[in-house]
Amino acid sequence: MYKLLNYINGKLVEPVSKTFLDNYNPANGKVYSLIPDSDEKDVELAYQAAKGAFAEWSITPKEKRSKYLLKIAELIEKNLDKLALAESIDNGKPVKLAKTVDIPRAAANFHFYGTGILHYSSHAHAMENTAINYTLRQPVGVAGCISPWNLPLYLFTWKIAPALAAGCTVVAKPSEVTPMTAHLLSEICIEAGLPPGVLNIVHGLGGKVGNAIVSHKNIPLISFTGGTTTGAHIASIAAPMFKKLSLELGGKNPNIIFADCDYEKMLITTMLSSFANQGQICLCGSRIYVERSIYEKFKADFVSKTKKLIVGDPLNEETKIGAIVSKSHQEKILSYIELAKKEGGTILCGGQEIKLEGELSKGYYIAPTIIEGLNHTCRTNQEEIFGPVVTITPFDTEEQALEMANSTRYGLASIVWTENLTRAHRIANNIHAGIVWINCWLLRDLRTPFGGVKDSGVGREGGFEAFDFFTEPKNVCIKL
Ligand code: NAD
Repeated sequence: MYKLLNYINGKLVEPVSKTFLDNYNPANGKVYSLIPDSDEKDVELAYQAAKGAFAEWSITPKEKRSKYLLKIAELIEKNLDKLALAESIDNGKPVKLAKTVDIPRAAANFHFYGTGILHYSSHAHAMENTAINYTLRQPVGVAGCISPWNLPLYLFTWKIAPALAAGCTVVAKPSEVTPMTAHLLSEICIEAGLPPGVLNIVHGLGGKVGNAIVSHKNIPLISFTGGTTTGAHIASIAAPMFKKLSLELGGKNPNIIFADCDYEKMLITTMLSSFANQGQICLCGSRIYVERSIYEKFKADFVSKTKKLIVGDPLNEETKIGAIVSKSHQEKILSYIELAKKEGGTILCGGQEIKLEGELSKGYYIAPTIIEGLNHTCRTNQEEIFGPVVTITPFDTEEQALEMANSTRYGLASIVWTENLTRAHRIANNIHAGIVWINCWLLRDLRTPFGGVKDSGVGREGGFEAFDFFTEPKNVCIKL
């Protein structure tokens, strides 16, 4: 059985304990590789390597750091097919999605931050004839980066690339549910000649490896993407240690559809914002609010299109809906569908597990599901399900739509469909979300700050704000 290894001090190594965990292929439910079951001893080795490398890396000219990052971007692009295949097998996502979105965006992260750092500047403030102040931005030190399973390489590199570009060295942990592309990234870093210790990747469980990184007394910064409950736990450890924290957490995003929208464009994009990656994107619009005058038409068209979505083998290039990432996550999603029924919801399509034939008969599949008839305050509409499950609800006025949209503890992203420019801006102004997509979804200029409000997170990454996060400002005042 293929064994993944930790990447510490430039080398691929077994965990100190020599024990491994099973890695499942969700498409067929079979174990297909083994993951290091690392613990705090491995994190300590990784930390020591990162600390050792920091002295040199933090003063390496940014032009040189940039070259390493661009080389890594180039190698990710060169290995596109291999990485996409690995991500599809690890995660259950359609290989085409991995090939066209996840992996290219991982390369884009290295490219963006590798070039962005060359243009990052600090400020000077003159006090007329009295003094000059300037701000030095110095890398914080060893950064701890922890990422989830839904967009494995994309989100992993979203943290690592700006940290390395800013001059930090890194101890990183990918999700134990989808570790394969992080392992392949280790090989790419070795091929790119990244100096030993600059990036260290420790595989294993959140409660062991993640916890050891978060509670390590000499790791002063944690960049975390994952669930809100985990984020709260991490904050409770990191806050009393005064660590710098960026928490990108869960969402329950509204998709507000007005009658004056461009209907065809809205319908095509709403299919994607509802079910792409089996609904396992933190930015998916899982609560769909539709103006009453087009509600019945929308319902009929949306249900009819959704019924035609074929759930199938993730490795088939034609597949739009692949497998759910794990057995336990499949069970969680199915339990929410049962809850929706108990709460009085009507299942318009889907609502059940799908059993595929032959080799894939033990895989974890769920039919894309649309539910109506639920109050916006019920648990189904308030809690993050993170699967191919959406609710649809009619509204009569803009105020009512906004009230329902803003009614959850989350505030990650939102989607608005209208051709009325004034209304679009008014909603953007009044909605409680870190991102507002008007007549589109998932479009991003990487220069914009990314993140959510309320329980969807704190701290913003993206753009040059990521460099602000991975550096510490030091203000110097010179008396004239
Ligand atoms: P999770 O919180 O279970 O795990 C995320 C990572 O944290 C994993 O690497 C895990 O091993 C680690 N971890 C778990 N317990 C830990 C602990 N005690 N200490 C330190 N690390 C620990 O999340 P998940 O199930 O992997 O991912 C799904 C969640 O991520 C969803 O809630 C989704 O909305 C969210 N997400 C948010 C964004 C965003 O940008 N806001 C992006 C993607 C996913």
